[in-house]
Amino acid sequence: MNVHEYQAKELLRRYNVPLLNGKVAESVDQAVSVTQELGGSVWVVKAQIHAGGRGKGGGVKVAKTRDDVKKYASQILGMQLVTPQTGPEGKKVRKLFVEQGCEIARELYCAMLIDRATSKVMFMVSQAGGMDIEEVAHKTPEKIFKLYIDPVTGFMPYHGRRLAFALDIPKDSLNKAGAFFASLYKAFVDLDCSLCEINPLVLTKSGDVIALDAKLNFDDSALFRHKDIAEMRDPNEESAQETEAAKYDLAFISLDGTIGCMVNGAGLAMATLDIIKLHGAEPANFLDVGGGANKEKVTAAFKIILKDPKVKAILVNIFGGIMKCDVIAEGIIAAAKEVNLSVPLVARLEGTNVEQGKKLLAESGLKITPASDLTDAAQKVVAAAKGAK
Ligand code: ADP
Ligand code: MG
Repeated sequence: MNVHEYQAKELLRRYNVPLLNGKVAESVDQAVSVTQELGGSVWVVKAQIHAGGRGKGGGVKVAKTRDDVKKYASQILGMQLVTPQTGPEGKKVRKLFVEQGCEIARELYCAMLIDRATSKVMFMVSQAGGMDIEEVAHKTPEKIFKLYIDPVTGFMPYHGRRLAFALDIPKDSLNKAGAFFASLYKAFVDLDCSLCEINPLVLTKSGDVIALDAKLNFDDSALFRHKDIAEMRDPNEESAQETEAAKYDLAFISLDGTIGCMVNGAGLAMATLDIIKLHGAEPANFLDVGGGANKEKVTAAFKIILKDPKVKAILVNIFGGIMKCDVIAEGIIAAAKEVNLSVPLVARLEGTNVEQGKKLLAESGLKITPASDLTDAAQKVVAAAKGAK
């Protein structure tokens, strides 16, 4: 799950990660009154959307007067902001973050993520901050310094010094940098983040080390223990399908092709996507109903797939282990009756109660093509999708 910059900063503030003062605003008037609260003479008006590169798209403006704040706020609020990360259609700006300005000496980069190969939290820092880190990683990978933190020892003061040295932080700011990284690590672990990106991390002219931008992603599987973070979900930033899927605790991933896939388990999902591609088509999405879904969940899943206009055919590929095939069949039938089943459906069921499941489908009166195995299923659904075009 993603949150906005202002929410990420609110969370990081709880861990004493050094930040500038700022506040969210939903109208131009509010943006101006935030500047009164903040005081000072320079403010930055920042579009709040779930995408980076806002500066490049005109979504981050430095204002030196309240009139400018007013001008920028009215320009940015409601605009369709296009950045290198939004795609050409852009994203509508519904909220602003108004923050104090600061005098930047250097813009640095810092990210943390979970490195699966070493089972450790990895810091990635670079002196080439503020700009496209993907390009730095591609063209000059030697400019990125990586440091792995063993979860057994946790973050140690020497880790902080190593990171600070890699960033060439001046002597007088070393302690501040060390404290910064320690706080960030604590926040990352406590909040069950899967990613934390501070770009830019700035060294100010007065020698402070500050997170000027903040992006946090959270491990969805851990959200149950962070109710406050789960409440930060912004439905405007997600597709209606994703929001619906989250409501039923279903994993839904939207892709670009034409075949909708309902599967159980991530491994089977990957295999299903692969075999569809092998037989010459592209998946439109996949929806993982998980191990212990009930009829309501399957119905919801089915409706979500049917809502996607890209979907020209659907493949249901279920291995009934804990999940029983007859339950899946009941869900398919219930959903197909509720929503007009307008595209061909291929079903491959295997495992627990498979015979009951197949019988239910066959007797449902719905046009469902049964498949005997994965290859058969893929060939049939690819042919159906191509025929439907
Ligand atoms: P994005 O990454 O989406 O473009 P950032 O928050 O990183 O947005 O802002 C882009 C740039 O704007 C930063 O690299 C920095 O140069 C400048 N900037 C952002 N916030 C401030 C601030 N509070 N004070 C001064 N400059 C800022
Ligand atoms: Mg940034």
